Amino acid sequence: MEQTPKLAFVEQALAERAQQQQLRSLQPLHPIDAVRVTGYGQILLNFTSNDYLGLSKHPQIIAAAQRYTAQYGTGATASRLVSGTYDIHLHLEEQLAAATGREAALLLNSGFQANATLLPALLDRQSLVLCDRLVHNSLIHGIRASGARFIRYAHNDLNHLESALQQAVQQGVRRMAIVTETVFSMDGDCSDVEALIQLANQYGAILYLDDAHAVGVLGQRGMGLAADRPEVDIVVGTCGKAFGSFGAFVTCSRSLRQYLINFCPGFIYTTALPPAVIGAIEAALLLIPSLDAERLHLAQLSQTLRPELQALGYSTAASRSHIVPLVLGSETRTLHLSDWLKQQGILATAIRPPTVAAGTSRLRFALSSSHTVEHLQYLIQTIASWTDC
Ligand SMILES: *Cc1c(COP(=O)(O)O)cnc(C)c1O
Repeated sequence: MEQTPKLAFVEQALAERAQQQQLRSLQPLHPIDAVRVTGYGQILLNFTSNDYLGLSKHPQIIAAAQRYTAQYGTGATASRLVSGTYDIHLHLEEQLAAATGREAALLLNSGFQANATLLPALLDRQSLVLCDRLVHNSLIHGIRASGARFIRYAHNDLNHLESALQQAVQQGVRRMAIVTETVFSMDGDCSDVEALIQLANQYGAILYLDDAHAVGVLGQRGMGLAADRPEVDIVVGTCGKAFGSFGAFVTCSRSLRQYLINFCPGFIYTTALPPAVIGAIEAALLLIPSLDAERLHLAQLSQTLRPELQALGYSTAASRSHIVPLVLGSETRTLHLSDWLKQQGILATAIRPPTVAAGTSRLRFALSSSHTVEHLQYLIQTIASWTDC
């Protein structure tokens, strides 16, 4: 019998993607400063990075990474429970807990890894998860890995969430969790943390919030939308976005931290974050509470961009943050506009299905406090001068 080559599916999947014009590839860029890169043979003003406070190039943070590398070496050399916990790891966790106004903090190697592994540690096959329809892929990954049954409620629709909670209580579900984000990465809108806390309390559900786009930028002292809220059981923050470096952390109660150290495989079976990264996170954490002027500037940029785009006839969806989508709907138009902007020296990602729902293709502008008013005006003028033909 003729055998199909064992990797035939690879070629087939790639060909299908190419045919749908959805084949992705990696483009090399070189950073110049927090908002400019060279790439595609030119200098581009970058509206795609998550470096919301421009900290990735901050001299104090670079110096801290270098200092810890010199003192502790390039690697932590083992997992945390073996011999990879240095004094700097524990000290940073204490500082993260204090800065977020939460009882305890635990470092994880990335936001993706945190979500993919915390959820299976907290949930089992008898559990039920209620998650917002628009949550990040890493959360879906974690929920699936837990084996829990899950229901995706309509985006930010707390009535839908509450009726699902009522039903679950009637069915006698043993363990329930509400899983959502505080700021949604593709729409830039926010969830109602107060209302979520109230529902979680009323129905006895674990409340798990992914604060990836808020830490550094929003909330008390810029420490996220769940800062100072002990009622939220699990909060995940990443250090790859506003913190300007890498890694992630979870804030929770002391006993939950102890539980994760013992039962969370993505914490246990991986090498501890390297000293350079610990130094960078620590230095960013020292700076962030003092960056109110930067946060105000960032908020003003988005408060200018949204009405300007709307005045040009475009939808910015429900954005209320530094993430501002320009929803065009059509994939082709979205690609056209993205190409046009690139020709004019502006980098803006086209986001298309399957990342977003069909018919909601968009450009996603991620603003940074390092963007100037002039940068923003140039973006707006360039979009205004686009004629789609
Ligand atoms: C970026 C992001 C993550 C992943 O964080 P990394 O540290 O980049 O792995 C998780 N959740 C959300 C909502 C994100 O936007």
